[in-house]
Amino acid sequence: MGDAFLIDPLEPDAVRAQFPVLAQRIYGAELAYLDNAATTQMAMPVQEAMRAFEQHDRANIHRGVHALSQRATDAFEHARSSLKRFVGAGADHELVFTSGTTDALNMVAHGLSTSGMHPAWLQAGDEIVVSGLEHHANLVPWQQVARRTGAVLRVLQPDAQGRLHAADLRPLLNARTRVLALTACANATGERPPYEDLLQLAADAGALTVLDAAQAMAHAAPELSSLACDFMAFSGHKMYGPMGTGALVGRRVALERLEPLRYGGDMVAWVSATEASFAELPARLEGGTPNVAGAIGMAAAAGFIDGVGRDRIDAHLNALREHAVAGLAAMPGVTVLSAHSRVSAIVSFVADRVHPHDIGTLLDQRGIAVRTGHHCAQPLLEHLGVGPTTRASFALYNTHAEVERLLAGVAHALKVLQ
Ligand code: PLP
Repeated sequence: MGDAFLIDPLEPDAVRAQFPVLAQRIYGAELAYLDNAATTQMAMPVQEAMRAFEQHDRANIHRGVHALSQRATDAFEHARSSLKRFVGAGADHELVFTSGTTDALNMVAHGLSTSGMHPAWLQAGDEIVVSGLEHHANLVPWQQVARRTGAVLRVLQPDAQGRLHAADLRPLLNARTRVLALTACANATGERPPYEDLLQLAADAGALTVLDAAQAMAHAAPELSSLACDFMAFSGHKMYGPMGTGALVGRRVALERLEPLRYGGDMVAWVSATEASFAELPARLEGGTPNVAGAIGMAAAAGFIDGVGRDRIDAHLNALREHAVAGLAAMPGVTVLSAHSRVSAIVSFVADRVHPHDIGTLLDQRGIAVRTGHHCAQPLLEHLGVGPTTRASFALYNTHAEVERLLAGVAHALKVLQ
């Protein structure tokens, strides 16, 4: 699959040809799309794979004997296998399709706190550790679970520079620790925590470990088999794939513990008028008709990334970030968050006496799309004492010329607003 997509991220024209949406002008200026941490654009091979399914193979899966249903089922299961390979899943892992990272994380939080096939993993007095870097999607579900079960929520706070440390996790772990929920990359700051060590420490303490890989799939992707990770969640739309798609991948024994979030068709083995028994994984956690074209699109997106080459993409994105950090940090009154991070595609900053929304609006007038606000990570930004930020985030189609435009745009905004 990969050869069809062989393009060099340092050859911007070839890359950008795969993303026609980029070839437009905003207020007369070329679009510089730097909001990739929110959503990346969708590659043409992804769109083509989805269109081919819709035009030739569309049918419901798993329950038809007819040819289209068989083809749709094969394509869906092939997508699952491709994505398992992409994330480095081993023989003991399984992958469940979801509507995104939020859906996957809610599935885990619900599944570990609800009795059904098993007594709930989380009981009153048990402890859940979340990091202070989390997106609300990996925090609020655990807050709700703690409230509902009587479990205690503990927060592994970052230091003043936004870093997490294994030495700070150790005192939080004890015999009651049942879950560690952690991000592979903080979307609000671009911090890349030492998640390998943190997951291992929690696993050694007997906890189930949950990794939010939403920001890591398109850049510096984790290799699941090498991690002490029970559950990993990610989204298709942050890796050049379709919106409303995602996956929960994890150890089969851990996924077995989850009480399903959705009961209904396709997730049952047999049903009587009064009872039901559930299907084996992964069907058990995929009640209802899934987004089949979306799953195919996600797998095509993974193929696209591998076709370009993960090392080349990673090096390109780290270089863009380094360029942006150096330029922004040199501006008077500007503070870049997690400036130390060397493995990141996100640069988030604040400027003295200037509101990020004003910077974002002036950048938009120059065709530069960035995100401003709390980035669904309000506790982190409050902990760091910075409030809302301006965030630029890069994808493989971005260029150093766009970084220069960002820097010129921010300098202009500060001149006007400070
Ligand atoms: N986790 C992180 C780190 C994110 O950046 C995001 C989205 O920005 C999410 C979770 C939620 O992803 P989704 O909206 O695709 O469910």
